[in-house]
Amino acid sequence: MKYSQRRQKAVELISELSLDALIFCQPENIRYLCGFSGSDGVLIVTPDHLVFLTDSRYTTQAHEEVTADRVAEYTIQAEGVIALLTSLQVKRIGFEAGLAYGVVKGFQKQGDPDWLWLHFKDELQSLRLHKAMEEVNAITAAADLNVAGFAEIAAMIRPGSREKDIALALEFALRKLGAEEKAFDIIVASGKRGAMPHGVASDKLLAEGELVTIDFGCRLTGYHSDETVTLALGEVSDELRGIFDTVLEAHDRALAAVAPGVALADLDQLAREYIKANGFGGYFGHGLGHGVGLEVHEAPTVSPRSTAIAETGMVFTIEPGIYVPGVGGVRIEDMVLVTADGHQTLTKIPKTFRNILLN
Ligand code: ZN
Ligand code: ZN
Repeated sequence: MKYSQRRQKAVELISELSLDALIFCQPENIRYLCGFSGSDGVLIVTPDHLVFLTDSRYTTQAHEEVTADRVAEYTIQAEGVIALLTSLQVKRIGFEAGLAYGVVKGFQKQGDPDWLWLHFKDELQSLRLHKAMEEVNAITAAADLNVAGFAEIAAMIRPGSREKDIALALEFALRKLGAEEKAFDIIVASGKRGAMPHGVASDKLLAEGELVTIDFGCRLTGYHSDETVTLALGEVSDELRGIFDTVLEAHDRALAAVAPGVALADLDQLAREYIKANGFGGYFGHGLGHGVGLEVHEAPTVSPRSTAIAETGMVFTIEPGIYVPGVGGVRIEDMVLVTADGHQTLTKIPKTFRNILLN
């Protein structure tokens, strides 16, 4: 059922783009359209055919997982793809812009010289932009793992603990609870390191009076979670508290505004203007958020340059931050689903100010 609906989306896209066939090589797109969870294969879709091709390493797995008209095996990828395209009598062939240049060249060299090869990027994003119920459930399950994993390591977040040890313990906890993988290298940035938006965990020890930012997530049944918690290790300076309160309020305001019809650029502006009005305008350098799904960073982007409008079924993050060099930083991040009547926050760890030495 879900694969026939997804196939329909791909067929509509083929028609919109005036193509005869679309070739997918990106694992997330392949998984979305036919269920294959391995890392190597090619999916060819035409208005009437959906064929998955892979090599002998994956044939058994493909027969178990894939919903397609046919699973074909190749020895040399380009030869297998070209033979199939020839049999389907196509002329205008679309492919993902991210496909390696060498692979495209290989296809072109072996294919009919009259064929037209066209690359697409933004056009393909519409495929996975709106999450169906089963996808929302998968993302929610990954977010729930965050809650359980974080609870397991919460006692470690104390002065004297090493950032790297916290990151490792959190990854281990998530995996032990059933996650397939961490979503990305876990960020644990304490004290002045908090001023680095992507400060992966270091050998630094947490110290009293600091803030610590932990940005993490996991993958479950292919879908990701992503959230960021900033905690206080005891009493912090008024300056740090002011930064925290500003980020939290910016986060809360943007989150509260999420609803169908709202421009994503306006959500970004809401948070950005608030941060600016509080004197930290120069210290929020990244976009407000990003889509999450089969990829941890996917469409839509929530930034000043976003042109998209929030629509029911979109899942994206709201993650404002303030990063003051030499002082520290705060980021607070939740994942939100756009629903018909507004939104639903999918991540569940509380984001309010918390002095971890008190409670
Ligand atoms: Zn994150
Ligand atoms: Zn994020």
